[in-house]
Amino acid sequence: MQDNILYDVIIIGGGPSGLTAGIYTSRARLNSLLLNSYTIPGQAISTHLIENYPGFPEGIGGFELIERFEKQAHGSGLTIYPNTVRKVRNVQQVRQQDMNIWQVECEDGTYNALSLIIATGASHKKLGVPGELEFLGKGVSYCATCDGPLYRDRPIVVVGGGDAAVEEALFLTRFSPKVTIIHRRDSLRAARILQERLFANKNIEVVWDSVITDVLGSDNVEGVRVRNVKTQKDIELSCSGVFVFIGLVPNTKLFQEIVKLDDNGYIITNENMLTSQKGVFACGDCRQKTLRQVVTACGDGAMAGFAVNAWLAQ
Ligand code: NAP
Repeated sequence: MQDNILYDVIIIGGGPSGLTAGIYTSRARLNSLLLNSYTIPGQAISTHLIENYPGFPEGIGGFELIERFEKQAHGSGLTIYPNTVRKVRNVQQVRQQDMNIWQVECEDGTYNALSLIIATGASHKKLGVPGELEFLGKGVSYCATCDGPLYRDRPIVVVGGGDAAVEEALFLTRFSPKVTIIHRRDSLRAARILQERLFANKNIEVVWDSVITDVLGSDNVEGVRVRNVKTQKDIELSCSGVFVFIGLVPNTKLFQEIVKLDDNGYIITNENMLTSQKGVFACGDCRQKTLRQVVTACGDGAMAGFAVNAWLAQ
């Protein structure tokens, strides 16, 4: 799909922050287009249960929550196209005004807008050890909701010590009687409530002070080599699945020529979500901030939508 419309705003990314921004810009009656690549599932949509988003005391599945956001965004008048963005460029200044036209080049065409909201989120960090990429889809995974059921009754290893690792390890015990968490330190970073559940679960064991050095197998994963970072001793653990949750890398490569990034690649914004570039806003996990949750992504999205409207009105 391609059109000749000059949109008020193009939102790139269809996670909680992008969809919330779209709800706000559409309700402000800005001509808004949201472009989302559905090829790689985002953090929220691939979370089996989100328990800390207010209003859902029993928790809500990430997929269902995003579906609800999309329904609300459509109802507000937002246009959503599934499309992968390839390049973003600033093509010209609108005469006598201090405004640019932003051209967003996608797989199937080019779209133009007076402003942009970047809501591209972050992807799972890779371990970078031999075997990890070779066994991707053959035992190595970054999504427990997507791949957990494939490992029913088989041993699983989870890497990491944050919220994602602990939450997903707990989820994986629905399928596997033996889940081993491998963590590089002797204490976890995850929220206390998750740690309490972890330590009460007899199907989860934690291997402390350890890192994976190799993913092993022939056609599929058969095990991992694990090094204790204190003793430097190696052991081999048998497993069929290796789930990696060691943090995030922001999806900001496309924008590095346009907006200022911090040393870790996150987009720097002010409290109104404005980046270093006039008319370009960023919200959610792709921007520099301290707390990355669905609820903070929504707050960012609301602020970005509001700020774009104010900026265009000027
Ligand atoms: P995270 O909080 O950054 O934790 C990453 C974990 O992986 C840390 O324990 C870290 O160890 C470990 N790690 C990092 N690099 C490693 C490496 N190369 N090898 C081995 N271990 C490594 O990441 P996350 O758990 O993916 O969460 C990302 C964000 O999403 C966080 O802001 C988190 O709060 C949020 N989130 C929230 C929820 C929730 O609220 N329910 C659920 C999921 C995610 P160290 O501890 O030693 O640094």
